[in-house]
Amino acid sequence: MPTSIRGSCLCGGVRFEVDPPFIRAGHCHCSRCRKHSGAFGETQGRVPRERFRLLAGADLIRVFRPDGGAAKAFCSVCGSSLFGGGWPDGSEVSVRLGALDGDPGIRPQYHSFVAFRAPWDVLAADGLARHDGPKPDADSPGTIEGSPGPSL
Ligand SMILES: [Zn+2]
Ligand SMILES: [Zn+2]
Repeated sequence: MPTSIRGSCLCGGVRFEVDPPFIRAGHCHCSRCRKHSGAFGETQGRVPRERFRLLAGADLIRVFRPDGGAAKAFCSVCGSSLFGGGWPDGSEVSVRLGALDGDPGIRPQYHSFVAFRAPWDVLAADGLARHDGPKPDADSPGTIEGSPGPSL
């Protein structure tokens, strides 16, 4: 029986819990994830909605929905990027792995939207698959082929 792991935003107002295993995880280098994080992009993993529980802070969560892109859910107090993909209605929840307090078990499996990465974003020789656009078999809600970038 897997042990639940907790996650939270920087200010602690939003808290949640996930039951591993994650379905998949990856690094997204698209321009939207880059802007949202202020870093190379975002690293996230997906779990079925029934294995995700929001424990506190539902009223603090705001959602930005770029045209043609996936939702970006964040804490309105501290700005932490928390969830993406089909939030809040999708069958899966895409969780920013950096918001987790424990080890999710899964490790990132691929890089997506590498063609859109920042000039200073040097990909490490980590042996992971690299996709110029979205992960080819990505079937997530909100994924738009050839766009600069929904999250996975
Ligand atoms: Zn917060
Ligand atoms: Zn992205």
